[in-house]
Amino acid sequence: METRQCWRSSIGARFAARSRVFTTNFSRLHSQPSDKLSWPRPLRPDADTLRPVASPIAHSFAGFWTFLVFAKQLQIRVAAQWRQYLLRLGVLVVLANLPDFDFPISLALLGNTSLHHGFSHSLAAAVLVALAVSCVWRIVPGFWRSAMIYFTAYGSHLLIDLCTGPTLGWTNTSFGIPLLWPWPKKFSSPLILIPGVRGKDFAALFSLNNVWSCTYEVLTCGAITAVALVLWRGRLKSRFVRTPAVPAAFSNSSK
Ligand SMILES: [Zn+2]
Repeated sequence: METRQCWRSSIGARFAARSRVFTTNFSRLHSQPSDKLSWPRPLRPDADTLRPVASPIAHSFAGFWTFLVFAKQLQIRVAAQWRQYLLRLGVLVVLANLPDFDFPISLALLGNTSLHHGFSHSLAAAVLVALAVSCVWRIVPGFWRSAMIYFTAYGSHLLIDLCTGPTLGWTNTSFGIPLLWPWPKKFSSPLILIPGVRGKDFAALFSLNNVWSCTYEVLTCGAITAVALVLWRGRLKSRFVRTPAVPAAFSNSSK
C-alpha cells in the first residue's frame, strides 16, 4: 500500500497518468476519464495566460501623457507643432509598451509565457533601457534629462501593471510584478484601476470581456487626456493674458 502511494506521487507516475500510452495500465491510479488524457500536458502549467494584463491602449495613452510632460518642459505648443514631434511621440509610446515585448519573445523562444512579467517589469530594466536609449538618441538636449523622460515612459508601464487586476476598486487582486528584480517578491497595488484583457489563445483575445476591457481603457484614458488638455489649454491662455500685449506698431514693423 505504501509502495503504491509512493508511486502515485512520483514524477514518473504523474507523467504516465497524462499519457494515452499509459492509460490502460494505470487507469486505476487516477480518477480522470481516459478520453481527457489524449496528450501529455506540460509539467509546468502555463497559468500566466489567464492573468489579466492592461492592453496596449492604456500603455500607449501613458506614452502620450509622458509626451505632454516633455512638451510642457520645452514649452512646445502641441496643437500647432505636433507634426514636428511625431517621432518623439512614437519613441515614447514604444517605450511605454516595451516591457510587454517579453510576451512574444517568450512565446517564440519557449513556446509559453513563462518569461512574461519577469525582468522587463522591474525598475532595473527601466533604468537600463532609459540609459541605453539616451546613449543612442536624446529626445531633449542633455543626457540625463533625456534619460529621465525615457524612464518616465517605461515606468508608466510598470505603474499601470501594478494597478491591473480582475476586480476594480480596493480589492488587492493584482498579480503583481517583480519591481525590485532580482528580488523575486512581486509587488502590487491594493487599488485596481484597470481590469485588463486575458485569453488562452489569439481567438480568446476577441472575447466580449476583452472588448469591454478595451472600451473601458479607451473611455477612461481618453477622459483623463481630455481633462488634462483642457486644463493645460486654460493655463496657456491665462499665461498669454498675463503677458504684456505687443504694441501694434512694433508688431507690424516686425513683419
Ligand atoms: Zn506589462
